[in-house]
Order: sequence, then C-alpha cells, then structure tokens
Amino acid sequence: MFKIFFKKDTNKRIFKKVSTKKSKKVSDFSKDEVEFLRQKINDRLEFYKSLYYEHGISLEWNRVSIRNQSTRWGSCSNKRNLNFNFKMKNLPNELFDYIIVHELCHLLQMNHGVDFWKLVSIAFPDFQILRSTLKSIRF
Ligand SMILES: [Zn+2]
Repeated sequence: MFKIFFKKDTNKRIFKKVSTKKSKKVSDFSKDEVEFLRQKINDRLEFYKSLYYEHGISLEWNRVSIRNQSTRWGSCSNKRNLNFNFKMKNLPNELFDYIIVHELCHLLQMNHGVDFWKLVSIAFPDFQILRSTLKSIRF
C-alpha cells in the first residue's frame, strides 16, 4: 500500500509505503486478482494507445504478460511483448499509468534516449518526478 503526500512548499507528490508485507509469488494470488490486474493493464494500454494515436503515433504490441519480477516494473521485448510486474497492483494510478506508458514507448524506442523521453512526455510531461518516485519504491 502507498499513500500520497504533498510537500507543503512545492506541492510535490511523495509516495510512501505505509505497510510492508512479505512479497508473494503470482501463484499465491487468486485468479481473480490476476484477472483484475490484467483487465486494468489492458484498459490502460488501450487508453494510451488512442492518446498516442491522436498524436499520429501508432503503437502495436503482441502479448501482454504479468510476472512477479523482483527487479523491474515492466519490460518490452524486441518481439513487441510487454511484461508487467504483478506488484503494480499496489501502486497509485499515476505511477501505474507511467509504467504502462514507459513500456509502450519502448515499442518505438528500445532505449532511454532523448527521443524516448520525448515520447513519454506526451502522456507525462512530469515523467522525471514519476520516474524518481518509482525508483524510490522498493519491490
Ligand atoms: Zn525503460
């Protein structure tokens, strides 16, 4: 679980972990939980696909898998398969969506170069804040 705090002076968002649970394997969770997350991921992928399409950018992927990774929130293979971490289900929506957008942008830019971040900034102009917030969250 995470709570969002706002810094008084700058109004910057801070996400803080409020409870620490022992990490579980995907198989430890019910099918409903996995299915719920799969639905949410698919919904957000489609949402951002249309958002980018409005900017003349076409995003096409193959398969979407949910994994219980311990080192990354998501990944995009050169076969255009997207992987997302099951632990995303505990993230606030904004961070959740940032991961979706991050991996979607890797469909076009398989690196973290300037062009990649330009793409990300279409959906998240404040991606730097989200990126560093995400980095500060432990798996
Ligand atoms: Zn990346």
